[in-house]
Amino acid sequence: MILEQFPRHPLTFGPSPVHHLKRLSDHLAAKGGGAQVWAKREDVSSGLAYGGNKIRKLEYIVPDVFASGADTLVSIGGYQSNHTRQVAAVAAHLGLKCRLVQEKWVPWDDPTNTQVGNILLSRMMGADSRLDPHGFDIGIRDSWTDAIREVEESGGTPYAIPAGASEHRLGGLGFANWAFEVAEQEKSLGITFDTIVVCTVTGSTHAGMIAGFAALEDLTGVRRRVIGIDASATLEKTRDQVARIARSTADLIELGRDLRDDEITVLDGWAGELYGVPVDSTMEAMALGAQLEAMITDPVYEGKSLAGLVDLVASRDIPADSHVLYAHLGGQPAINAYHSLWPAQG
Ligand code: PLP
Repeated sequence: MILEQFPRHPLTFGPSPVHHLKRLSDHLAAKGGGAQVWAKREDVSSGLAYGGNKIRKLEYIVPDVFASGADTLVSIGGYQSNHTRQVAAVAAHLGLKCRLVQEKWVPWDDPTNTQVGNILLSRMMGADSRLDPHGFDIGIRDSWTDAIREVEESGGTPYAIPAGASEHRLGGLGFANWAFEVAEQEKSLGITFDTIVVCTVTGSTHAGMIAGFAALEDLTGVRRRVIGIDASATLEKTRDQVARIARSTADLIELGRDLRDDEITVLDGWAGELYGVPVDSTMEAMALGAQLEAMITDPVYEGKSLAGLVDLVASRDIPADSHVLYAHLGGQPAINAYHSLWPAQG
């Protein structure tokens, strides 16, 4: 295992905080559960434009950006993409230019969708953020390759970062390392988290964790469930992408064995019909997080994975004696575009 040999450019404050969600755990115990729920907070782990899971992935990509001699980061996402906002943040922080393709991934026609939240922050940070009418797809897009070509034609040197930094050779390393960070935090807390719950869409967050926890299992013998909750609503594509990136990341860090099928779990049931559109379980989970813990989640990603966690704990699919770690991956700026879900009262 050679994870420590990859260069990492620090963009975070250090290990992301881990804390107990006691009131949520008690609430779920009253509903039939019993597991103790903790959260590890990627949403408060960096000072760069509200942080989030991409900052951690980008820590391993920035050394490659420097080596390439690029002067412009190019990336793609939806109008309210957290990923493109984090790429814009890293570009501003490093003194690079940034060209973003923002596609209409979500049929959410609130006029603020192209004006507030993530896209507003990207504009504030100086990114050249352009709207594109194409719909949701986690794969490689023409609009993105066109943007790369345009940067070249205008004399720039682009560095291409695909959607979610997932289809990038180094995209899984940030969350492979997250597993080892968890192991260090467990030592000081005196707790072992037997179950991890994480939202998955473009796949490299979950995939990196799978590779990292596999390496940790081989070193320590501790076997855990790393449960991905699909929020893409294109389950098969996400499942394939998670499996592929988990295996390529495992190869990259020289895990030295094939991943078992039982190490790759992406569950459906909480994404609803469409990426980016919340369903009742999303709204209920967001309300629980906010009202019991003041832990704010978004309707696109974290509200859906929290809904999965709530059901898995309450039904004892995650057993009552478990310590479960909810990976909070960020995403709160998007709630501004979803203001109509919480209409003013009175
Ligand atoms: N949660 C948030 C807040 C995100 O921005 C993303 C990005 O897509 C995810 C979860 C899913 O992560 P991944 O795309 O690595 O599967």
